[in-house]
This record gives sequence, C-alpha cells and structure tokens, in this order.
Amino acid sequence: MTTVPRFDTDEVFNQSPPYENVDLFSSDLPLQEAVRANGDGHDTDALAAFGRQWGTAEMFALARRANENPPKLYTFDGKGFRRDVVEYHPAYHDLMRASIAAGLHASTWTPSGRRAPPPAEVARGARYYMAAQIESGHLCPITMTRAALAALAAAPELLAQVAPKVVSRSYDPLFRPWWEKPGMTLGMGMTEKQGGTDVRANSTAATPTGDFYSITGHKWFLSAPMSDAFLVLAQAPGGLTCFFVPRFRPDGSVNALRLQRLKDKLGNRSNASSEVEFAGAFGLRVGDEGAGVRTIIQMVQLTRLDCALASAGFMRMALVQAVHHCRYRSVFQRHLYDQPMMRAVLADLALEVEGAVALVMRLARAFDRAAADPREAAYARLLTPAAKYWICKTAPGFIYEAMECLGGNGYVEESVLPRLYREAPVNAIWEGSGNVMCLDVLRALKRDPEADDLFAGLEREGSRLTGTETGLIEPAKEVASEAAARVTVGKLATVAAAVALSATAPAAVAEAFMRTRLVMPHSALYGADDVDTRAADTLLQRALPED
Ligand SMILES: Cc1cc2nc3c(=O)[nH]c(=O)nc-3n(C[C@H](O)[C@H](O)[C@H](O)COP(=O)(O)OP(=O)(O)OC[C@H]3O[C@@H](n4cnc5c(N)ncnc54)[C@H](O)[C@@H]3O)c2cc1C
Repeated sequence: MTTVPRFDTDEVFNQSPPYENVDLFSSDLPLQEAVRANGDGHDTDALAAFGRQWGTAEMFALARRANENPPKLYTFDGKGFRRDVVEYHPAYHDLMRASIAAGLHASTWTPSGRRAPPPAEVARGARYYMAAQIESGHLCPITMTRAALAALAAAPELLAQVAPKVVSRSYDPLFRPWWEKPGMTLGMGMTEKQGGTDVRANSTAATPTGDFYSITGHKWFLSAPMSDAFLVLAQAPGGLTCFFVPRFRPDGSVNALRLQRLKDKLGNRSNASSEVEFAGAFGLRVGDEGAGVRTIIQMVQLTRLDCALASAGFMRMALVQAVHHCRYRSVFQRHLYDQPMMRAVLADLALEVEGAVALVMRLARAFDRAAADPREAAYARLLTPAAKYWICKTAPGFIYEAMECLGGNGYVEESVLPRLYREAPVNAIWEGSGNVMCLDVLRALKRDPEADDLFAGLEREGSRLTGTETGLIEPAKEVASEAAARVTVGKLATVAAAVALSATAPAAVAEAFMRTRLVMPHSALYGADDVDTRAADTLLQRALPED
C-alpha cells in the first residue's frame, strides 16, 4: 500500500477572520463624536441599526456580486427594434432598495420638495458615509436623485409633481413612466465629448416646441441611464439651459434617448455610465433660458458633498480592514499591530480619517444650517470644494497604503481593498475635478465677502490652536496666482479639519493632527509623521475598539 501525501489546507492559521457582521456605527468612535457634535445627538440607536444592517456579511456579499457582474446594455432586440435598456445584477437592485428604504436618496427633503429641518443632512451624511464603505457604485444614482431636487426648485410646478415620487422609500426598477411608479430616481447629463468642465461649450440643442423643448445632441457621460429622468444642459435660443428629460414622453411612449454604449471603467463597475444621443427628445425647461449653469450648480453643490463623504467612507473601510488584519497577523512572533513601525503607519492612517470625518460632518452641519445662518451658508460654499478636493484626492494613496498593511492578502479581490482602490479616483474626477475645485475656492474668495471673512476666521483659529505666530495660510487677498491654488486650498481644508476635530475629538488627537499636518511639513507617505506613542494608542483604540 502506498501512502498518499497529505495536502490538508483545512487548518488555516495566522490569518485574520473576515471583517463582517460588524456595526459600522458603534465601532466608529470618531463618527459617533462627529454626529454628536454636529447633529445635536441625532438618534444614535437608528444610526447603530443602520450600521449593523450595512455591516452584515450579506451586504458585503451584495457589494461583491454587484461589482463582479457589471450592468449590460441592450440597444436592440433580436428583430432590430430599439430597446435602449440596461440590465443590472439583482445584487445592485438589492443595494438600491436598501439605500432608498433608508432615505439616502431623499431624507433631506420634505414631500413638497423643501429642505428637511436639521439635523437631516448630518443624519443622512452619517448613513451615506457608512453605506459608501460597503458599496459605492449604486450610490451614484442615489446621490444624483437627492441632489436633483435642489435644481428642480427652479421649476416649482414640476417639483410639486416629482418631489412626492422622489421622497418615497419605494424602489421600482421597472422600465415604465415615472408617474406610474411608486418611487423614482434622477440622473444628470452635462458632460459632452468636447468638455465636462467647460459646460458652456455644450452643443446639444433645445428647440422650443409648444410647451416643451425638443432636445437633439449627445452626452459623453450619462451615469445611471435607467434613471426615470435626467437634468440635462442644452443650448436653448436664450443660452445654456437646464431641462428635465424623462425616459418616457407624457403620452407613454419611450423618449428618444439612444444609449450608444457603456463605459468600460477602472472602477465603479456596479454602476452603468453611458454615452447617449438625444434624437429630438422631449424635455421640460427647469429655470430660465440661459440660466442652466446657475440652476444645475444647486444640484452639483450637493453631489460634491457626497463625493467627500464617500471618499472619507472609503478611507474608513480601508483603515479598519488594515487595523483588523494587523491585530491577528503575526510576523516574527509578534502581531503586526504591535510592531512599532506598523503601529506608526496605522496611527497615521487613523489620524487622516479622524480629520476627514470631522470635516465632512462639520460640512454636513453647514448644509443643515445654511438657510438660517449666512455664515453657515458661506462655510458650505467655501468648504465644499475644498473638502472635495482634499479628501477625494487623498483617498487613493491612503487606500494603497492600507492595502499594503495586509501584504499580499490586501492585493486580492476578496480583501475589498482592490475595489476601494479602483473606486477612489472617480470621486476626485467627476462633479468638478481637483483643479476645478481649487478654482471654485478662489472664485468664492474673490466674489464673496462672507467666504473671505470665514477664510480669515479659520486662519486665525488654526493659528491660535497650533500656537503658530505666522499665518498658516496666506491671507485670501494675497492668493494671487492660480498656480498656487492647490497649496492654499489644501491648507484651507486641513485647517478646517483641525478646527472641526478640536471641537469633537480628544485633545491628544487634535494636537497630533495639527502637529503632523500643519505645524510640521506633512510627509507624502504615511507612518513617517512621528505620531507619538500615546497618541497612537488613543488613535488605534478609537479607530476600532479591541474586543
Ligand atoms: C465614471 C464617470 C461617470 C460620470 N458620470 C457623469 C454623469 O452622469 N453626468 C455628467 O454630466 N458627467 C459625468 N461624468 C463626467 C465628469 O463629470 C467629467 O469627466 C468631469 O467633469 C471632467 O470633465 P472632462 O472629463 O471633460 O475633463 P476636462 O474638462 O477636459 O478636464 C481635464 C482636466 O483639466 C483640469 N482643468 C479644467 N479646467 C482647468 C483650469 N482652468 N485650470 C487648470 N486645470 C483645469 C480638470 O481639473 C481636469 O483634471 C462622469 C465621469 C466619470 C469618470
């Protein structure tokens, strides 16, 4: 009898258990503190229930399946008739259903399309931050739906019809007219082949035809093409104008949106982003002719907030995956978590997330209070582009570093980190890319005395907190050149994060953030910032409490 060599892989040791079936809220002290400080102690039990639901193994699995099975476009049927429909994997629909049931797409609005009272933004922001940790592709239509009502305010009659459908908590993925559905979603079409930043170069034409417009042209990126309607920019006789373009015409026939193909994207794969041609599509005007940018910018301001929230969420998930793994993995007879250099890396990563979450939740508070308080409105105007710039551009490098904490395990799909890594750059690119965000900040400073005052106030507060005599940021009036704008805006966001952090986090955390990000030159690499040992202990315990 020959003996068969034993290849027994049943016994696995020195690996971390899956990070799932976790409570995304109760395990996240910085988030809890930021919600407490900015959201008047908003219903933490409800947030914990959301955190538990989204942290289940089932939600992680839905996210994986939705991205492993990207949507498919069907332009024609077998007989040559146009279909122009995109089919998604059931996991995508499950994620949409869960987000809509929780109101991520609309909880900041009342059924009449007015802003819901505070702390609606903070409460939604916290949920959005948690959902983004699990799956971000489906959040694209969720974000656009919630933001679109801000632009629809320019068409009150239309808003009155659409808002009740939007705020409904029912998700209806069927391809049928929006007015027959219990709930609806909205997308947006601005970017054309010749330009996304410079939308004034849009060539799509809108011809008045009785009480509607006939839209002819193309959009080079139109995400979530199965949305029930889109806000689209097109050139009307009076200039660039915003239009409501539904998938069905009022007579129930399919509107003339010809989906050409889907983008083959780096990440964001559960979400479909299409190229589309409008062949005399039915459109209703939203706002005055010529006021297209002014109208749609109301929507874009909100989508930018979501970009910053989501990227902060990506960093949070990357951080906890790294901390969790290092607590279990031993190298040279010692847990990675206890190796001094690894601890320095993890603590520095945790510090970055502390600043990001403090800033985004402070920003959500500004959106909550903007209508009643001009200073908060100025905060939202100035800090939205600054936070989007700083957080969204930080995320890819951050996730890469977190991935390395898991070694080879981090590089494989099951670890979640590759998907986060591929997803992250898009938040910096869409809704106004990095440089464009910096130009927005400069524009606000030049034209808006309240934003200018706020800038000076943050600068003074930052200098006081850090005890630095010379200004941390050069005075706004001296921001002469666009070439230096990234330096100014990066510092502005960092100072605002430090100020927000000092209002919510323990002094040791705020001090470590200021010392390593403002007082000393900040290293381009994590773990090279000399966070002291005591602060590191605090940071890591706050990031993910040990059982
Ligand atoms: C996955 C995905 C989905 C998308 N979905 C949608 C959608 O649903 N609807 C939609 O309308 N759009 C969508 N977009 C398009 C997106 O909003 C644009 O790509 C973005 O606004 C940038 O426009 P652009 O690609 O034309 O780049 P450009 O405008 O050509 O800009 C290129 C670069 O130049 C920089 N730049 C621009 N102006 C200046 C300046 N004055 N000084 C210095 N630098 C400058 C920008 O920051 C950018 O880095 C999507 C994009 C992606 C990747």
